[in-house]
Amino acid sequence: MKVNNNNKPVSFKGLVPALVLKELAKQNTIEARKLLNSCRGFNAAYRGAQTVNPDKIAREMQEKFHINCDFGNNPLIASFFALTANIFHKLGFAKPTNAFFKDLRGSSYFNALGLCTIQKNDAELFRRFGMNFPAGSVIINKAYNWENIPYIMKEQKSINHLSTSHFLSTFIHEFVHNAHLENLKKKYSNAADVMQSLRTRFTNYDTIYTLEKETSRYGSTSPCEMIAEEMTELIVDSLDPETIRPNEMIFKLLRKREPNFMDKLIDASWNGNLQEINRLVNLKARVSNIMYNRNRYNNLY
Ligand SMILES: [Zn+2]
Repeated sequence: MKVNNNNKPVSFKGLVPALVLKELAKQNTIEARKLLNSCRGFNAAYRGAQTVNPDKIAREMQEKFHINCDFGNNPLIASFFALTANIFHKLGFAKPTNAFFKDLRGSSYFNALGLCTIQKNDAELFRRFGMNFPAGSVIINKAYNWENIPYIMKEQKSINHLSTSHFLSTFIHEFVHNAHLENLKKKYSNAADVMQSLRTRFTNYDTIYTLEKETSRYGSTSPCEMIAEEMTELIVDSLDPETIRPNEMIFKLLRKREPNFMDKLIDASWNGNLQEINRLVNLKARVSNIMYNRNRYNNLY
């Protein structure tokens, strides 16, 4: 296998052990069941990835979904991208134009699991890679060991940073950012600017509190991340644990079951209706202090 310097080959020694699955099965909580589903799905995908040819997946993704791919020759990443693209295809959501596996260390995105570009120029990415990525590119961070993703996600969910513990969450989250942008493009000629406005931080305490409870801490930061986190949770909860394919009916049912406030906020955010978002959460227009300096970068993570 061809391997470059910062791309260790996949060891295929990282199956979630049967004992862990057994322990999770014994715990009778919703979260344990969801984690068990994620671990079962991961093991199935991980086993499948052993015989995957990343170049072949890249060709199929190009032919079937018109996604330009560079998986850094990593079969696991190729499999995760392919699974996610199939999920979005089945649910009728737009798919990104580019799917990349890049080491984001040495840029301001160094600790992000992934990102989605919403504008084609990003000074940070240009500085790091000496190139621009087209808007609608999903980049997964090579700095992480993706064989450990079940444990990384378990940790992220346990501190309520993210809305789900599912191993595909990062891929789905970034794909949602892109689908959101594509939806805005249908309505606005300045969709990237609208997207940028949706990154304005929530400042209303009640809203933040509600979103931390309903979605996640990261989802409580802005309308943009609320959508990504909320949709990721809905999609993940509609997946078959073994085949990792979505059930459209379950997805629609879960979406319908959202509490009224969330339902309205999801609609308003998805459609870029800033006035309605403001009405709903009393969003303060001007937010700037040192805590919010992430907003100076163009892209989403
Ligand atoms: Zn995000």
